[in-house]
Amino acid sequence: MSERKKFQAESERLLDLMINSIYTHKEIFLRELISNASDAIDKYYLFALEHGQTPEDLNIRIDLDQENRTLTLSDNGIGMTKEELEENLGTIAKSGSLAFKEQLKKQEDANNDVDIIGQFGVGFYSAFMVSDEVTVVSKSVESDQAWEWVSDGTDGYTLDSTDKEGHGTTITLKLKADDDLESYSQYLDSYQIQDLVKKYSDYIRYPIQMEFEVQKRVEGDENEETPTYETEKELRTLNSMVPLWKRNKADITQEDYDRFYQDHFYDFQKPLDKIFFSVEGSVSFTSLLFIPARRPENFYSRQYQPGLQLYSRGVLIENNCEELLPDYLRFVKGLVDSQDLSLNISREMLQHDHQLRVIKSRIEKKVLSELSSMLKKDPEQYEGFWKNFGLDLKFGLYNSMGQDKDKLQDLLLFYTSNDGKLESLSGFVKSLPEGSKEIYYVSGTNPEAMAKLPTVAKLKSKDIPVLFLTDEIDEFVLQTIGTYEDHTFKNAQQGDLDLDSKEEKEALQSQNEENKDLLEFMKEALPEVSEVRLSNRLVDDPVMLVAGDGMSFEMERMFAIMAEQSGETPVPGMQAQRILEINPNNKIWAALRADYSTDKEKVKVIAQVLYDQACLIEGFPIKDPIEYARKVTALLADE
Ligand code: ADP
Repeated sequence: MSERKKFQAESERLLDLMINSIYTHKEIFLRELISNASDAIDKYYLFALEHGQTPEDLNIRIDLDQENRTLTLSDNGIGMTKEELEENLGTIAKSGSLAFKEQLKKQEDANNDVDIIGQFGVGFYSAFMVSDEVTVVSKSVESDQAWEWVSDGTDGYTLDSTDKEGHGTTITLKLKADDDLESYSQYLDSYQIQDLVKKYSDYIRYPIQMEFEVQKRVEGDENEETPTYETEKELRTLNSMVPLWKRNKADITQEDYDRFYQDHFYDFQKPLDKIFFSVEGSVSFTSLLFIPARRPENFYSRQYQPGLQLYSRGVLIENNCEELLPDYLRFVKGLVDSQDLSLNISREMLQHDHQLRVIKSRIEKKVLSELSSMLKKDPEQYEGFWKNFGLDLKFGLYNSMGQDKDKLQDLLLFYTSNDGKLESLSGFVKSLPEGSKEIYYVSGTNPEAMAKLPTVAKLKSKDIPVLFLTDEIDEFVLQTIGTYEDHTFKNAQQGDLDLDSKEEKEALQSQNEENKDLLEFMKEALPEVSEVRLSNRLVDDPVMLVAGDGMSFEMERMFAIMAEQSGETPVPGMQAQRILEINPNNKIWAALRADYSTDKEKVKVIAQVLYDQACLIEGFPIKDPIEYARKVTALLADE
């Protein structure tokens, strides 16, 4: 006797939403049905044990029928009675899909389009995203009668008695016809199904089996020239069942880890390092993390997807769960598996958020402590890491407004004037002379060129090492750190270095005063410059450009880049003050003084050439290269 029943009113809207869902994650229907099947087998397993039986051959099976466009998923689990079919599949309020509905509503209210289908278990009803009609045949382990439930997802369902061998549930999906947006036929392709099972359900505890057609040599065929083949069916298990991270650590080889990483995270290189740990506590979880040995090509583009895989009881809930990693660790690959985030619990959003936050903070701690021990134990390996992802740590420190400074400052590396190698701040501070309160730094792009900067030479002559800043963000990072072990950071290319003795200072001051006219004259010849002065900062070189107090050259560059990126013209005030410093001990100073009384025009030309040279040293473009070249040639020919 056939009965026709309507879905509960509130179910209808959800069904409608789901069926006509524009989400791209329709493929997760398979994961949902497999999870249900696995749960049903779990239940049967317990039932069997309680009734003194030995459960055997528990499995999930998938059959594809191209001709009839059906995908069938069978399990030999607990099965459902007629009442259970009605209760479980007839009312959405009963199923976990309720939470999905609430979330969907929240999302609508918030008017954002976070892909929640991708994040949530949406249960049995997701089958309607890909099917015109769903048939469920089920026989409960506690009943002799099987029942057939059929629905097109819009207009209720029918329920009929039927025959079925053995307990369990068989769900047959009549797949929709392909349309412009979606190919439903892909779910009839055994290799596509195999991929989906691998992707979402690889660690389901029971074998998920499917028949494949394979070409086999006909038995007894001895014709080597034209061998004959026949098509045979071969039953294959699609899932690997026991996940690597659930295996005994002692049995896992380095090769296993490497292969796992390369297969799962699509890298042709082995990882630089792995972190494998479990946490028991308010939230228990296992995490297997990897630090890649190279920076992915798309790392700084929008295509790069940060986040960790999130598993719950062997089922992949989310492929790139961003909530599990702080932004500055976005290079970390890996997964988290938590019993506590069962598919059902994960639907309780609040709970979910809290648990993720706990996991995230444990992961952050663990990764940072791993990096810090790598830096101590294997500085070379750490350097490899640093060259790929160091910039992210710097951004992390800067963006935290100093909050994360204690966590991160000792993981930073810099080139220095010490020996051309990368050094940590704590290592660098040890190389400072006794009692020094300052950490001097210069900015540039190339450490070798920076080592030759006049200021660096001067500091070196006083045995003071200098930190080299090579990234635009560096100066901001130092500002965020503020002080390091009681040392303040000081830009050696800015303001007064204050390294000289009182006598030296006085001598310089009187020299500046004596030559006031000449210096003023040079300044008049250089409209970009706010001051020309003699300086003790220079050892061998004739001139250099320093910034006045306030904005540094590095910041000026940074603002220019930011303006360029936002398409604005740079604000005129966003420029550092340029001061041209001259070395009174260099031959050129004597020449300038001599020329000042005889040939003022020449002094002007020399001033302009010197300014351009100072710009070149500082890494600024010179305004008019042709003019510069002409002047230099004229001066050379003059001599
Ligand atoms: P959820 O699994 O989140 O509870 P579903 O809509 O997926 O929500 O399923 C509703 C209920 O239907 C399940 O809780 C379960 O009791 C029952 N069910 C679904 N699939 C099966 C199955 N293959 N075998 C037995 N019972 C099932």
